Amino acid sequence: TEALDTIRVLATVDELTSLVNRRRMHEVLEAEERRQTSTRGTCIALLDIDFFKQVNDQFGHAAGDSVLRSFSQAARACLRGDDVLARWGGEEFLLLLPDASLDDARGVLERIAEQVHAMPVPGVEGRRISFSAGLATRNLGEPFAEAINRADKALYRAKESGRDRIVLA
Ligand code: GH3
Ligand code: MG
Ligand code: MG
Repeated sequence: TEALDTIRVLATVDELTSLVNRRRMHEVLEAEERRQTSTRGTCIALLDIDFFKQVNDQFGHAAGDSVLRSFSQAARACLRGDDVLARWGGEEFLLLLPDASLDDARGVLERIAEQVHAMPVPGVEGRRISFSAGLATRNLGEPFAEAINRADKALYRAKESGRDRIVLA
């Protein structure tokens, strides 16, 4: 049983950040798609750390790892119980906000941004860390893949228009 528990944790939790991993997030989204309760709406956001390659180049890969851990901690502290933050790729994160209007979701992302700008990161002194985000609502009955696609396009616009900002899809 212990070995099985270990395997289950490894399969669902990102080792570096302790966030839900991409594989597990797919399961969470599928479960959310099956949930038929009428809600205020569901929002999805893609967050990507700005100029992360520069952080690695300037401070080293271990310091980059610390940024990812600190970011995850700071962001998670801003969430409610039902919100799920997943490590979606290297320095990219997917945030699911069930029962949140677009305004609610934007408020959460703004709070995360404040926390991230202020967070101390061991090994990364004197550099302000920021992220860009694309935020989309998921229409009722719509597959999450489509909302994620819109969030991804909004994220691209956030990057193109100067980074360190939240763009609504
Ligand atoms: P942008 O503002 O456009 O997002 O630029 P960026 O530098 O953040 O994006 P880019 O995609 O060019 O670089 C992402 C970097 O993230 C490259 C990769 O080496 C690094 N990375 C991915 N996963 C990890 C990780 O687990 N640890 C560390 N330290 N670096 C990682
Ligand atoms: Mg990046
Ligand atoms: Mg990226």
